[in-house]
Amino acid sequence: MPAGALTLFHVRGIRIGVDYSWFFVLFLIIILLSGFYRDVTGAEEESVGPYALALASALLFFASILLHELGHAVVAIRNGIPILGITLWMFGGVARMERDTDTPWTEFKVAIAGPIVTAAITAVCVAAGIALSGPEEFRDAALIEDGTEASALPALLGWLASINLLVLVFNLVPAFPLDGGRIARAIAWKVSGERGKATRFAASLGRGFAYLLIGLGAFLFIRGDIVGGLWLVVLGFILNGSARSAIAQTEVTDRLEGISVVDVMDREPVAIPESASVERAVDEYFLRYRWPWFPVVDASSRFVGVLDSATLDAVSRDERPTRTVSEFIARDAGTLTVSEDAPLESLLGNEALSRLGALIAVDPSGRLSGVVTAQALGRALGTP
Ligand SMILES: [Zn+2]
Repeated sequence: MPAGALTLFHVRGIRIGVDYSWFFVLFLIIILLSGFYRDVTGAEEESVGPYALALASALLFFASILLHELGHAVVAIRNGIPILGITLWMFGGVARMERDTDTPWTEFKVAIAGPIVTAAITAVCVAAGIALSGPEEFRDAALIEDGTEASALPALLGWLASINLLVLVFNLVPAFPLDGGRIARAIAWKVSGERGKATRFAASLGRGFAYLLIGLGAFLFIRGDIVGGLWLVVLGFILNGSARSAIAQTEVTDRLEGISVVDVMDREPVAIPESASVERAVDEYFLRYRWPWFPVVDASSRFVGVLDSATLDAVSRDERPTRTVSEFIARDAGTLTVSEDAPLESLLGNEALSRLGALIAVDPSGRLSGVVTAQALGRALGTP
């Protein structure tokens, strides 16, 4: 998924970005729609009216997709899941969540929020269109039948209602990662009690639907609808890739199911007492083990921080016997420690673990109980 090449603006701190592919779609919509509006409104060949209507339609469509994504984002944030940003691109919008949902109910609420917004936009367009031109003319404008004549505003509202209805129906197909697939995942998760199983179920439906889109796209392509056919084929491949990686991800998280830090950590970690002299730390620890850093503990073996070799190298030889380790400890322990009871899954993507290669495991009273290394996590994942 694209990260968003250009930042448009921020909404309540959420970055709204667009991918370059979005401009291509914007351009395409304006070109196709200006012809459509010229036919429907019966405007003159040189009239700029159809272009203005097409531009307004494209921008309102853009706003509709953005509101749909904001629906997902607001509900996610309310449930404690930060949003990294919203990106609009060729195939709609993506609200990127910092982490996955942790209960079926949260998953359901976040998933359904977008379609609810889209349904509301559709309803507003229909109501406004009918109020403006009466049910008959608005129906004709929305259905785009051959020879339909409509005035500008009902035609615009009709198009906007139709396209949002299309977005709504498409998104509700129970095919992960579409919203309908996330809803199916939430239900399967609730019923089975297993997230991994539910994800594999919804993502398999997603893969089936993706193949259907690819087949339909190929059919349209052969029949002469080059752009529409290609668009569906590419969309099918993207959905398939997304569903496949969701399945692959569950294999990782399932393998770590029920494993805690305490199960894989080194239970007899070498630690330097904070009262030791710098000379002793260098001779008995750094020169002996040749590790770049060590945990440091106080007299009751509580973890107090880490000591790295570069810091001690800066201490002159004359001073080493008299200076103590406690003067040189890096004490930003919060990011370096992990509770020994923490699920191993929570270490995936841990920034400090990948930087230091290991984390300090502490028991509930703050005592150093072990060291968990990136290799230990890798072994638990089954990677050599
Ligand atoms: Zn959505």
